[in-house]
Amino acid sequence: MYGLSAADKDIQARARAFADELIPFEVEAELSGGLPDDVTAGHQKRAIELGLFATNLPRELGGGGCTTLQQVLVQEQVGRVTNALGWVAATPPSWFPPVATRDQLARYLLPTIRGEREECYAITEEGAGSDVGAIEATAFLDGGSWVLNGVKWHVTSFNTADYCFFQAKKADHPERPGAAAGGEHLLFLVDLPSPGVSVVRTPAYSHTITHHHPIVAFENVRVPAANLVGAEGDGMTFAYEWFRFERLMVAARCLGAAGRLTEEMTAFAATRRAGGGVIADHGLVAGMLADSLTELFAARAMAYETARGIDRGVDSPAAAGGQANPAAAGGQANPAAAGGQANKVSHAQCSMAKLYCSEMAGRVADRAVQVFGGRGYMRENVAERFYRELRVERIWEGTSEIQRMIIARQMVKRTPAALA
Ligand SMILES: Cc1cc2nc3c(=O)[nH]c(=O)nc-3n(C[C@H](O)[C@H](O)[C@H](O)COP(=O)(O)OP(=O)(O)OC[C@H]3O[C@@H](n4cnc5c(N)ncnc54)[C@H](O)[C@@H]3O)c2cc1C
Repeated sequence: MYGLSAADKDIQARARAFADELIPFEVEAELSGGLPDDVTAGHQKRAIELGLFATNLPRELGGGGCTTLQQVLVQEQVGRVTNALGWVAATPPSWFPPVATRDQLARYLLPTIRGEREECYAITEEGAGSDVGAIEATAFLDGGSWVLNGVKWHVTSFNTADYCFFQAKKADHPERPGAAAGGEHLLFLVDLPSPGVSVVRTPAYSHTITHHHPIVAFENVRVPAANLVGAEGDGMTFAYEWFRFERLMVAARCLGAAGRLTEEMTAFAATRRAGGGVIADHGLVAGMLADSLTELFAARAMAYETARGIDRGVDSPAAAGGQANPAAAGGQANPAAAGGQANKVSHAQCSMAKLYCSEMAGRVADRAVQVFGGRGYMRENVAERFYRELRVERIWEGTSEIQRMIIARQMVKRTPAALA
């Protein structure tokens, strides 16, 4: 089914078997606030051995060199596991290699691809989430160093990472105001821990995972000039490229979650007896099963086709040529909401996949809780955990509303037919 090649099926089977190894650890992780570090390290080692780690990075850098479809197949399978245990099949920043200096490759990216270092992202602020352009964090040059200031929210994996990407706007040196700073977005590598970086607080979130999302203060944090990523002004470009990738991977993990829930609720409904027969025979329950699989089928086809489009170069200059909609007056989409300066077809398709798959998975989880009845409200039940965990998939990497804005703007700019 789905026209998968032998290589696709092979990596899919390996990822499925790996996910099955992780599933028995879910309840312990749920009830203990995560797993001990040595257990997680063992899981990561296994993911590396199985070729499921850094699937999105080129082979010449030590990555898996997988097609986009294969990356989706892997993330779909690890998405079947709750409590973020599947995150050990990590996908380091694939936007980084083309812009990383030799020094940045050696100190950050290559060790990350080997599983020796871990990154986190400090972009969002109290007043800037969907609107990344509104960040207030600053960076100014002082001799050979950049000095960083700002307070970042929801810094996922800050407790496990040993470096972060910090986004700021270029500012004047405080002692030389009115110099050349133009507020360009800058992205920096910051080692953790570093003097001046401190946790303000670590709020509790709906899910129970090893990775925390603290609020982190950066106060006069000094990094060498060599830690600026790319050129001044490039900061937003990297964020958009990462969004496109991560949105498709969110979609993939939602497919996995919905697939597991559909299997588990079907097995339960086929054996649970109530009202004189198994509950799957009651029309109202049968409807929940049928709607879940029907939506999953549609979502999977969409996500796989989006991945295939990227693999066959839907955004290559030749393919993208002539797709602009001449009827779009001015055609000036908001680049922040449109998903990047390039305004490409794959950005809109990744948004559609993220939007539909995350909302589909939320509906499936809600039905799964209902089908399990009282059992579905117990934390030891997969439906209860996914019901909470999947909610954030509609929020991070761009909310559902932002995805809808991107899609609609691209429809006007390029015509619906160019996108779907
Ligand atoms: C668990 C978790 C982990 C996270 N991890 C990270 C991380 O590692 N690094 C990081 O930098 N960030 C992280 N984030 C932040 C995340 O990306 C933001 O929460 C998200 O982008 C939404 O921003 P916001 O929370 O400020 O909501 P807001 O932007 O304030 O949005 C509030 C509401 O308004 C709507 N809205 C906003 N703008 C528009 C618009 N233009 N059109 C229509 N509707 C709009 C939104 O859709 C939403 O419904 C994380 C968030 C969570 C919850």
